[in-house]
Amino acid sequence: MDAGRGEHTPVLVQEVLNGLNIHPAGVYVDCTFGRGGHAEVILKRLGEEGHLLAIDKDPEAVAAAQDQFASDGRFAIEQGSYTMLLSLVQKHGHIGNVDGVLFDLGVSSPQLADAGRGFSFDLDGPLDMRMNRHTGITAAQWLNAATQHEIAEVLHDYGEERYAGRVARAIIDARNTSPITRTRQLANIVVAASPTRERNKHPATRTFQALRILINRELDDLNEALSQVVRILAPGGRLLVISFHSLEDRLVKRFIRDQARGDAYPQDIPITQTALRPTLRAVGRVIRATEEEKSRNPRSRSARLRIAEKIAA
Ligand code: SAH
Repeated sequence: MDAGRGEHTPVLVQEVLNGLNIHPAGVYVDCTFGRGGHAEVILKRLGEEGHLLAIDKDPEAVAAAQDQFASDGRFAIEQGSYTMLLSLVQKHGHIGNVDGVLFDLGVSSPQLADAGRGFSFDLDGPLDMRMNRHTGITAAQWLNAATQHEIAEVLHDYGEERYAGRVARAIIDARNTSPITRTRQLANIVVAASPTRERNKHPATRTFQALRILINRELDDLNEALSQVVRILAPGGRLLVISFHSLEDRLVKRFIRDQARGDAYPQDIPITQTALRPTLRAVGRVIRATEEEKSRNPRSRSARLRIAEKIAA
């Protein structure tokens, strides 16, 4: 791997391989290539007939993929959002044939470690936070234009920030003196506005999470992508999602539950389970990293893997 582009230690590797239940001649989709940590181990399990289609929104991740796997005929990479899942899978001729699809949500270590991307409150940099810097508005642009009410709402809804109101007011006060353009500047404002601290959590964690979700439409995009998953999977094909905070995990859990339940009918209509046409069944319960992995790779501490399987029609 090209160290110049940064390293990323993949989480729950064995659990992902088991969950994907890899057939050597199968078709797999990695919706969040990152630095190819999962892609690499999937490719190792695939035979010559297998295929791995990878997607990433971040042009830097796509460049890393091209460096790493350009010569592997089983591998293809597409730059774009996983909201384009259905059309990308169609382009590659895999509709209804996908044996496993993986989402490893959030940001990669190289994204976090690059101060210039603005994802980290530990490193001073421009307050950007876009996963694809070629499009959309930056966190700074949004934060300097939004109303106090909008800011408070975003911090509350996407950060589950207890002091959303106070932090929003502090942001407005600060911005009246000078625009908020740097990560450190924002982190300091949040620290000063937070009356108490959570254990092992920097006070700005929730604010940064909220802005990242907003700027990248993370929850909307995940919903949109999940709604396309059943159509791309082969019967028996697997959906795996690794999430890193409770908002994402709740969304995934509900999606699997609703798909496992099938069509919504009023409760009082007598109808059999098969007539409800469930599309997925949950495979096991939520999977967390082992203590050993958590101590080796801090990113795995909050990781939660959920698995579902497409029900044969
Ligand atoms: N599994 C990877 C790490 C993934 S990190 C590895 O082992 O190397 C998450 C990646 O998802 C990041 O590279 C980020 O750019 C990408 N990403 C986030 N949202 C996305 C979206 N909506 N569409 C496509 N890629 C996205």
